[in-house]
Amino acid sequence: MNKEFKSDVSPCAVTEEELSLINKLTVKELTAEEVYTFNVILCDNEVDRDCERFDIAALEKLAELFVGVTGIFDHNPGSGNQTARIFEAKTEKIAGKITSCGDEYVCVKAKAYMPRTNKNADLITEIEAGIKKEVSVSCAVSKFTCSVCGENMRHGNCNHVKGKTYGNGMCHCILSDVTDAYEWSFVAIPAQVNAGVTKGYKKFESTENLIKSVKEGRCVKFTYEQAEELCDYITRLESEAQDGRLYRKALTDEAVKFALIAVPSLDNESVRKMCSSVETAELMKLRDAFKQKASEVIPLNPQLKAKKEKPIVNNNEYKF
Ligand SMILES: [Zn+2]
Repeated sequence: MNKEFKSDVSPCAVTEEELSLINKLTVKELTAEEVYTFNVILCDNEVDRDCERFDIAALEKLAELFVGVTGIFDHNPGSGNQTARIFEAKTEKIAGKITSCGDEYVCVKAKAYMPRTNKNADLITEIEAGIKKEVSVSCAVSKFTCSVCGENMRHGNCNHVKGKTYGNGMCHCILSDVTDAYEWSFVAIPAQVNAGVTKGYKKFESTENLIKSVKEGRCVKFTYEQAEELCDYITRLESEAQDGRLYRKALTDEAVKFALIAVPSLDNESVRKMCSSVETAELMKLRDAFKQKASEVIPLNPQLKAKKEKPIVNNNEYKF
């Protein structure tokens, strides 16, 4: 998923200690004069415009995972090669600041560096000017908890809708169990709050697992792709079911034909009724048994040579 966040970007002077952290990530040893460093806040525990928020453990994990990750500058034309890299990230509590949920405000504050080159000069000037930018972080999260009922919003029995108010609170999704941090980038602040938001949920469940969840009576939410896949699967099943019905009908017709030959006292209707109440595998056995019995009454295959006399068998099991 991608998360966009209005970040404070501020320049910072590089210390000896930080320079050694940076040089752990570089191929060529850089001097303090060769690097430009700045602070960037990547994300926080405030409920965002998608009605989602990270929990503290998720922020801590993100801080850990984002070290060494390269950021790109989306808004600058021809800035394909402009990159900065995070060399330090940690969670930070802002004293006295409380989130809309009433929790202490915590954010992931990172330090990034880039080489002081002509290519980066404009960007450095912009950062020096104290700009505020939108930062987009791309990460993978595996747990989606409903703030109202505590159930998994993807697979639990939760039917709450993000952004709707229930009782005294608005439902939002708590993101936790961060598994990966892919990238971060600066993007131009969209004029509209929700403009430019891209969210791509990975297809993380197979159709089989989704069906299993449905069978177990759990509430399941489908992505568009998953719903399409499920529709294809249902169409395939319908086609197979049609084949099955045709086969079953042919099997019943055969069983009835042999049954009436084998036991003339039976009537068509009652034999059909009997056939309809058994599984297909049982119906096949029944058909074979009636066929065997019928062949004793009337030879079903033309007899080209004399058959051996068969012993009389006890036919109790076929009596009705
Ligand atoms: Zn819920």
